[in-house]
Amino acid sequence: MSKKRIVVLTGAGISAESGIRTFRDGDGLWEEHRIEDVATPQAWQADPMFVWRFYQARRRQMLEVEPNPAHKALADLAARHDELTLITQNVDDLHERAGNTSTIHMHGQLKTLRCEESGRTEIRLEEHELIDEFLTCNCCAVAQRVRPDIVWFGEMPMYMEEIYAAVEACDIFLVVGSSGHVYPAAGLVNVAHSAGAKTILVNLEAPINADAFTEVHLGKAGEILPGILEQFR
Ligand code: NAD
Repeated sequence: MSKKRIVVLTGAGISAESGIRTFRDGDGLWEEHRIEDVATPQAWQADPMFVWRFYQARRRQMLEVEPNPAHKALADLAARHDELTLITQNVDDLHERAGNTSTIHMHGQLKTLRCEESGRTEIRLEEHELIDEFLTCNCCAVAQRVRPDIVWFGEMPMYMEEIYAAVEACDIFLVVGSSGHVYPAAGLVNVAHSAGAKTILVNLEAPINADAFTEVHLGKAGEILPGILEQFR
């Protein structure tokens, strides 16, 4: 077993072959919606029902798709390699369903909902919790409205201390399916590079930060990632 410390950062591209559209499909629209209308605290304040229904639709869709060979290859590698940290920008649960139970979700998760009052999160994926009407929490004496447990634009990503510590200490930093537009995730390659790590990119097309990587593989993650991971066996 290799002793190299590996950090993997995945983005929307790794779930594309499972049938979840990426963020930048159609010039920065997410499922036909402008980012400003569905993925900011301002949107939630201005029209919470519209934002709620958008995420409820994403939560229902998530249950209809399956992990693809890229998710599975990463889960297989993680099972054999105790020095692997998997960070995802994705809010779906496909890494977990492929068998990767310690995924760090820096942008939150669709499967959990967050109480607006206490900030407590809870898995809420029962059929009656996927409806278009607002839900309330199970934690407050007077039940409060819950919000999607998603890091919106303008909000602080989660687990950043843990993420920087892992990236600063890694030997190999691998990014899969990310356009390099969303910070701070897009800047982690520079942190890894400064720390002396080998930086590898697997993406359908060259993203804006492609030059920051020492090795670039262009293609569909489900098709090429399993072969690329063989070198870490
Ligand atoms: P992005 O949509 O900005 O970029 C996706 C990248 O993946 C693109 O560069 C594209 O060329 C590439 N890609 C598309 N299909 C691919 C494939 N089959 N194999 C490999 N690469 C492929 O995604 P991002 O950089 O992750 O940033 C988007 C933000 O949107 C994230 O913060 C994420 O939270 C959110 N988002 C998540 C999901 C999800 O959870 N599945 C879906 C859409 C958006």
